[in-house]
Amino acid sequence: MSLPDSAELLTALTSGAALLREGRIIHMNPALCDLTGQPEAVFLNQSIAMLLESTGESGCQLCRGSGEGLAPPHAALLHTATGEKILVKVKHSLLPDGEVLCLLDPFSEDTTLTRAHSDFVSTIGHEFRTPLTSIKGFADTMLKYGDQLPADQQRRFIHIIKEQADRMIRLTENLLTVSRLGGRAQEMSFRPVSLPRLIDRVVQSIQAKLDADDTRIFTVNPHPALPDVWADADRLEQILLNLTDNAVKYSEPGSEVRISATLDPDDETLIRIRIADQGIGIPAEYLPRLFTKFYRTENPLTRQVEGTGLGLYIVKSLATSMGGEISVESEPGRGTAFTLIFPAATPERQAKHRRRLSAEEASQPGDGHE
Ligand code: ADP
Repeated sequence: MSLPDSAELLTALTSGAALLREGRIIHMNPALCDLTGQPEAVFLNQSIAMLLESTGESGCQLCRGSGEGLAPPHAALLHTATGEKILVKVKHSLLPDGEVLCLLDPFSEDTTLTRAHSDFVSTIGHEFRTPLTSIKGFADTMLKYGDQLPADQQRRFIHIIKEQADRMIRLTENLLTVSRLGGRAQEMSFRPVSLPRLIDRVVQSIQAKLDADDTRIFTVNPHPALPDVWADADRLEQILLNLTDNAVKYSEPGSEVRISATLDPDDETLIRIRIADQGIGIPAEYLPRLFTKFYRTENPLTRQVEGTGLGLYIVKSLATSMGGEISVESEPGRGTAFTLIFPAATPERQAKHRRRLSAEEASQPGDGHE
């Protein structure tokens, strides 16, 4: 049996592989052609630098198309036919006949992460820059001319600085929540939560933020004999705050926001909370991606309104981690309604929870968290 030649070996490899002679590509395997999205012929006799871009960290001379020195395994960016660059792990080996074998493996998860990371950085960078520019501008003006300005104007400028700082705090809180969700470090503290009181608190805190001339109508309508919800009160408040805040943000100042809470007609151990507005609505094609991280719909009003596209992602993650569900109905130009379904705090649920806590305490003395 004859030994396979290097081209045959390369074809069998699942990693992307290129064979180089004096820095030029003399063979590329199908896996590498798949990665680049181009046939081998495009690269034959070309320098490896046409395919790879140094990430700047490795300084590999071979990848830069100059020099023969073989760097230890390193990362580089692989150019693809679509213009996209994929982060790959590169390993060079010198073969006995002087040719160089380059093995290229995408950091599959890291690639996704890199893309998500760069989207994240640009969204967040932009969201922070806007309030920071305004804080700096008004603070500079106050420092330079503050003592020459009338008192009411000074107060107005300081008010803007405070509002913008509040906006940054909200953004930071959202980011911290997202990072906790990713790290699964959410500890839930389940207990029976009275909805009418919680809804009142949410409405009051949203009303307190409205402009003085905003005649928004809040119609709050919890069912009179509604049982408590089985939830973590702080997380549920965060959910309702986000949804009510959106209902206000994406509708006109004089319009109505309705918040109702009822027993689920199909299952009386479940509670439905509905937050409905009369705002801009959401076209059907955007609905499937609505709860995705950083997603904002294309709409001139959305562009004017402050936001990061994190709110609904947080809402859905928190709701599902408390055993709840969320759905949305919307009609462009007429309004949007979000419906949450949460378990009611039935005696059975509470008893089951107590049994679980005692079992956990028994197995881990001294640690009785939910
Ligand atoms: P943000 O409001 O920070 O952009 P969200 O995740 O809360 O992020 O919402 C995602 C997108 O969904 C918003 O950008 C907006 O386009 C749309 N949206 C959310 N709630 C409503 C609503 N009540 N009415 C119309 N559009 C909404």
